[in-house]
Amino acid sequence: MLTNDQLAQWDRENFFHPSTHLAQHARGEAPGRVISSGEGVYISDRDGTRLLDAFAGLYCVNVGYGRSEIAEAIAAQARELAYYHAYVGHGTEASITLAKMVLDRAPANMSKVYFGLGGSDANETNVKLVWYYNNILGRPEKKKIISRWRGYHGSGLMTGSLTGLELFHKKFDLPLAQVLHTEAPDYFRRADLDMSEADFVAHCVAELEALIDREGADTIAAFIGEPMLGTGGIVPPPAGYWPAIQAVLKRHDILLIADEVVTGFGRLGSMFGADHYAIEADIITIAKGLTSAYAPLSGSIIADRVWKVLEQGTDENGPIGHGWTYSAHPIGAAAGVANLKLIDELGLVANAAETGAYFNAEMRTALGDHAHVGDVRGEGLLCAVEVVEDKASRRFFDPGKKVGAALSAAMLRRGVIARAMPQGDILGFAPPLCLTLEEADTIVAATRDAVTEVL
Ligand code: PLP
Repeated sequence: MLTNDQLAQWDRENFFHPSTHLAQHARGEAPGRVISSGEGVYISDRDGTRLLDAFAGLYCVNVGYGRSEIAEAIAAQARELAYYHAYVGHGTEASITLAKMVLDRAPANMSKVYFGLGGSDANETNVKLVWYYNNILGRPEKKKIISRWRGYHGSGLMTGSLTGLELFHKKFDLPLAQVLHTEAPDYFRRADLDMSEADFVAHCVAELEALIDREGADTIAAFIGEPMLGTGGIVPPPAGYWPAIQAVLKRHDILLIADEVVTGFGRLGSMFGADHYAIEADIITIAKGLTSAYAPLSGSIIADRVWKVLEQGTDENGPIGHGWTYSAHPIGAAAGVANLKLIDELGLVANAAETGAYFNAEMRTALGDHAHVGDVRGEGLLCAVEVVEDKASRRFFDPGKKVGAALSAAMLRRGVIARAMPQGDILGFAPPLCLTLEEADTIVAATRDAVTEVL
């Protein structure tokens, strides 16, 4: 067995990690952990340190770690047929079954699902399909995509552009020209102190309307948004936000892409965020919860209205020129089938609603009155604690103080992984959907102690 020192050296010398300070890592100043096993909501590293993973990896291990049902389905698929492609109409029992299972769970207006590998490539697919759609409808000018500041949609060329976080643009020449950004639906950060939630929604709508007027509705193809902001800070939409935004989009014939990479398959306590907030999407992006990350797989669920135009397009132009070698990979599909079955059998959507309500309420009770806790917010099994320097004036800490990172480190010292969200001093929680009430209590107690220690 390799020693920890050997691994650490190989890691520094060879491994280009995503979203990492490369120079610090190579110098050995910012080593990550080498994780070796997981069980339920816990993971363990090679030193035997056991941590409660209150972020489910990257909000993705929804059924929890160590599920043998999924491991066995993956192994059986690999033995039987590790791979065959899905081009020109081919499939496997797993991929065809999974498509049916996804559609059975999706909102009623949905018609077909395309399978990719991760959330980024699924959103790249979505933009291409929207462009194709407008070309087939004879509207070649209608191509721009509106996203929101603080939205997260991936880190490819187009999806990194759609992402409304500066870190993902800086020095990469992004965003691309076809992408427009509008107001973040973040009442806590963006509303004036004396603004009501309703007035803030009116402000978001006015900003969107102004952008559409400026650019021309005939140049705008789609609006993309997470039902609830995730990586941008875990922020539930203000009440009435989605109906008001959808009315504007409908009036201008702009398609709506609901990015449900985080919210899909139960995280908010509903099967989809679209169900939760009555969003009628034209395309829904899915990934993480589709397989609970036991294998990489994503999807684009396409509404009937869009699907019909795609069919028309291929009747006029021949096969659609889009696909990955690993689209609908049989091992990912087998993981997806076993995972969705498990979500049903364990009642995890209902658990996310019930335990999530308890978790969010307990977090509010434990921290809401703390002098430096500006906001405790969430829905289902998503929760955020945002800290501020001064509560009354909502003055934020100097980003250089890295208070969020200090809080996350203090959580780790208490055996709990909570994510310092990439922008703002925000501790994020997205535990596996199998979280128990006792585990919720453990996270809340650790958070109260960590906040008290740091602030
Ligand atoms: N969309 C959302 C809402 C996400 O949260 C993420 C990743 O966190 C993505 C897209 C990108 O997914 P991936 O990292 O699998 O490419």
